[in-house]
Amino acid sequence: MLFNFVAIALLQGSSLFAFANPLAEVPHRPRGCGSIIDEAKKNVAELDFKAHRRIATAVNGLLAAGPTTLNVHFHVILKDGSVRGGNVTDSAIQEQMNVLNIAFLTTGIQFNLQSVNRLQNSRWFSGAGPTVSAIQDEMKTELRQGGAADLNVYTVGFESGPDQGLLGYATFPSDFESFPEDDGVVLLHSTLPGGSTPDYNLGQTLTHEVGHWVGLYHTFQGGCRGAGDEVSDTPAEASPAEGCPVGRDSCSGGGLDPIHNFMDYSFDSCMNNFTPGQVTRLRDQIATYRNVPGGVIPPLSSLIPELPSIVIPEPQVPSSVLEEPTPVSSAPVEVIPSAPIPEASAPGAVYEAPAGPRPTARSFVDFFRRKI
Ligand SMILES: [Zn+2]
Repeated sequence: MLFNFVAIALLQGSSLFAFANPLAEVPHRPRGCGSIIDEAKKNVAELDFKAHRRIATAVNGLLAAGPTTLNVHFHVILKDGSVRGGNVTDSAIQEQMNVLNIAFLTTGIQFNLQSVNRLQNSRWFSGAGPTVSAIQDEMKTELRQGGAADLNVYTVGFESGPDQGLLGYATFPSDFESFPEDDGVVLLHSTLPGGSTPDYNLGQTLTHEVGHWVGLYHTFQGGCRGAGDEVSDTPAEASPAEGCPVGRDSCSGGGLDPIHNFMDYSFDSCMNNFTPGQVTRLRDQIATYRNVPGGVIPPLSSLIPELPSIVIPEPQVPSSVLEEPTPVSSAPVEVIPSAPIPEASAPGAVYEAPAGPRPTARSFVDFFRRKI
C-alpha cells in the first residue's frame, strides 16, 4: 500500500535488516535505512515533478510577508501509561516542535502544533512500521487529520516485527494524491528531545523525516553517480555518514560529504542545515503537491528575534497513569480527548482488544474510547 516511503532504521552490524536487539543494549549504532526509494521509483517521481513543477516563489504571484505556517497533528500512541510505553510528556512534544522550527527557519516554513491526541493501542505501538502496511494503514485511516498541507506525526515504539528498531519513516509529497490516507511521519517516541535513544534523542529524527515529507531525498541517494538527491549543492556521498565524521569525502570531486545536513544519517548532534538548493526544492515540492503557496524565503536575520530557545528536558520519568494531559502551551492547541490510560491499580498493564474476531480499525479504537 505504501509506495514511496522512507525509513530510518537502527542497524545492527552491517545488515540492513537486522533489528533484533533491544535499543538499550547497543550503545553506539549507525543510523541506517530500512527501506529507501529506489532509483526507478525516484525517476518516475522526478519525471512527474519536472512535468508539473510549480515554482514556489511565483505561485499565483503571491509574495508571502513571512514564514508559511503548516499545522501539525501529533498522535501519541501508547502501549501503557509509562514514558517507556510511549507516553511522551507534553514538554517533550513542545521541545520537539521548537527543534523542528529552528531547523526549518531557513526554509521559510514553520510548524504550529494544532492538536495532541493520545491513544492507547499496543498493537499499533509495536507494529506500525512500513513493512507491514495493514497495521499502519489501520492507524492512519483512523487518526489522520487535515489535508495535504497538514503534517500528521505518529509516535510509536517499533518494538516488534520486521521494523523493530526503526527510528522513523515518512511519505513523500508526490504520494499524497494516490495515497492521502498514508501521508505523514511515523516516529520512534524515544527520539524526541530528552528521549532514551542514544545519539538520536535531540529531536532531529523528526527534522529528517519532515525533510522527506516536504520532498527531499537522502544526501546519499544514488551514491556517487547520477542525479543523486536532485539538489546541486549537496555533494554526492557514496553511503550514509555514521556518527559525525568530519572531513569525510566518499566521492571524488564535488566537495566533502554533507555530514551536517539534516538529510544525512549522522548523529543528531552533528546535523545543522538544509542547503539553499534543498530549500528551493522543498518549497517547489510542497507548492506542487501540497498546494502550499510559495513566498519569499525570509532572511534568517529577520527571524532571529523569534528564535525559540532549545531547552532539552531532563530525562523523562514515568508519570502517573491517571495524570491528565497538561496543555502543551498557551498557544491555541487543541488537546483531543485522550484515550484512557490504564487504571492506577494496574500500572503498566497493557490493554488489548477483547477476545474474539479481530476488530476493524474503528471498533478497535472505539473499544478504548468507550473506557473513558
Ligand atoms: Zn531518511
